[in-house]
Amino acid sequence: MKSIRLREGKERSLLRRHRWVFEGSIAKGKADPGETVRVETHDGRFLAWGAYSPQSAIRVRVWSFDESERIDAAFFARRVRAAAALRARLAIDSDALRLVHGEADGLPGLVVDRYGDTLVAQFGCAGVERWKAALADALLQVCGGTRLYERSDLGVRRLEGLPEQQGWLRGEGPTLLTIREHGWSLQVDIAQGHKTGTYLDQRDSRQRFALWVRRLGCADVLNCFSYTGGFTLAALAGGAQRVASVDSSAPALQSACANVQRNGFDTARHVAVDADVNAHLRLCLEQGRRFDAIVLDPPKFAHTAAQAERAARAYKDINRLALKLLRPGGLLFSFSCSGGIGVELFHKIVAGAALDAGVDGAIVERLGAAPDHPATLSFPEGEYLKGLAVLVAG
Ligand code: SAH
Repeated sequence: MKSIRLREGKERSLLRRHRWVFEGSIAKGKADPGETVRVETHDGRFLAWGAYSPQSAIRVRVWSFDESERIDAAFFARRVRAAAALRARLAIDSDALRLVHGEADGLPGLVVDRYGDTLVAQFGCAGVERWKAALADALLQVCGGTRLYERSDLGVRRLEGLPEQQGWLRGEGPTLLTIREHGWSLQVDIAQGHKTGTYLDQRDSRQRFALWVRRLGCADVLNCFSYTGGFTLAALAGGAQRVASVDSSAPALQSACANVQRNGFDTARHVAVDADVNAHLRLCLEQGRRFDAIVLDPPKFAHTAAQAERAARAYKDINRLALKLLRPGGLLFSFSCSGGIGVELFHKIVAGAALDAGVDGAIVERLGAAPDHPATLSFPEGEYLKGLAVLVAG
């Protein structure tokens, strides 16, 4: 077993159960991609077992802090079983859920979503890449499934020196699936869709939105960055009369329209707008349009902490425009999925946007990722999605 020795003092984050070892913390030691290494203090004391990534700045990702644990196929089967057991306790109102959420499930770099009897996995780093076969077997065994599709078409793999990969890893089947969520049915394209096909992390917020739309009696709803229309269905289910889905992806909008239809909603209540959100919000302002509720669920504006400042301006911009477009008493559901923008900063951004828009608002709910996307206490970076429900003063 190869050892990775840390510089003196660099053991602190591992002692706090943080699972990453950065290149700069290492005094000596090397291993092959994904190889299991013993991480030790400057004077040779055991800290953790981890997977070595020779090309990444995150040089080691920890598998286990338990010295007696062997990292083998049985270890991965145990971790997958534990992840599945947690999901079973969550009683999620859907047949689609996140089965493995990387670090939070003790499996750094692995994401697995379950869509009915089809699993879709992303292997994000050298460690999970090396154990791919064992993980695939364990996943199928735990779920009693036969089909596993790989969506490792991830840019981050380049940082690991790994090529992008996509296709059936085990079994075969359709890649256009239908899932059920809160009693709605949603089409998911696991081959072409974003991430593993859809945004399961917003499941609970979509339900909350339906509830708020009903509670407030919102008639006109603008769903910005709609993707395949998850929040659009929520608005329609909540009784909205007119819902506009705005996205710059034509296939996403086609899917949104199909989703409206398949759920039996009157298609006359829905319009798909193929546009840049910022431009569309400005156009609506020019035209004097007003809405009762607006959703802003943009893609990640900040990919690194260094981009946070520019991203903050972009978030503020769309929030300011949206707040101006709301009728008195209107509702804003605003999100950020940038890890570099924390909850407090996001709050400040939306507050600044309200000031600039000249409106007063009250936070009536704080929103976040659904519980099948947990964040561990020791890994705050895992908590990426945050949202605010704001009621504009009447
Ligand atoms: N709310 C969705 C997920 C949104 S993902 C859900 O619940 O499923 C973000 C979406 O923003 C993607 O569909 C992407 O196509 C779209 N997008 C990215 N940049 C955009 C822009 N500038 N204008 C409009 N849409 C954009």
